[in-house]
Amino acid sequence: MRVNVIKEAGYEEALLGISLSREADILAMPERAKKLAPLDHGHNKFLESMILWIDVNAPRYWWQEADTYRLSTKQSASSMYLIMKRELTQDDFQDGIDAIVLGRLNDFIRAKDFMAAKRHLPEAFLQRRLWCMSYKTFKNIYEQRRNHKLKEWHFFLDAVLLQIEHATLITGGEDVRVVQSTVQGDK
Ligand SMILES: Cc1cc2nc3c(=O)[nH]c(=O)nc-3n(C[C@H](O)[C@H](O)[C@H](O)COP(=O)(O)OP(=O)(O)OC[C@H]3O[C@@H](n4cnc5c(N)ncnc54)[C@H](O)[C@@H]3O)c2cc1C
Repeated sequence: MRVNVIKEAGYEEALLGISLSREADILAMPERAKKLAPLDHGHNKFLESMILWIDVNAPRYWWQEADTYRLSTKQSASSMYLIMKRELTQDDFQDGIDAIVLGRLNDFIRAKDFMAAKRHLPEAFLQRRLWCMSYKTFKNIYEQRRNHKLKEWHFFLDAVLLQIEHATLITGGEDVRVVQSTVQGDK
């Protein structure tokens, strides 16, 4: 699995937005943002103006859960194109798969039987997507998935928190945990 925050934007604009409600001094807004960030029910709406673009290569069993977040958008690599372009290797799967299954898949690919390859593709198949979301959506994901049993959620959350500029708006000042070495970091 690989997670790279390739860009973030909107912090200054979000602070300007906060200042409008009380015509307050913009210089005081970073402190106000810290106080408002943990407060839901509308108080932390400014987090919706802060946008992240995250380049993620992850197994499809993880994407299946990530896809339940509706307030975000993704552009993805086409599995149809990828699996017919070349034979697959263990590096195409999170933590590898059974060698017999891999051999069978490559039989289908060599026979150009696209539908059979697609039907038998294991959920560990890694797919790259560009995931665009607001800090608000990321905060929701952090709160819902920080104790999740899939190690990929811990890797994803840690990797994003380590790379974004305003992680404390998400964690409320908690230390950012060290990225788990148990998750493959270079795929
Ligand atoms: C550990 C775990 C297990 C889960 N298991 C299941 C499961 O087995 N089956 C299942 O169906 N779900 C399951 N869920 C819930 C489901 O996957 C959630 O949809 C997902 O976590 C996204 O959360 P969300 O709706 O808060 O996020 P988002 O979709 O990003 O939405 C963010 C906020 O906007 C609101 N919102 C989004 N769309 C609308 C809308 N159209 N109208 C009004 N408000 C909207 C949401 O209510 C939420 O407050 C699980 C969640 C967790 C954390």
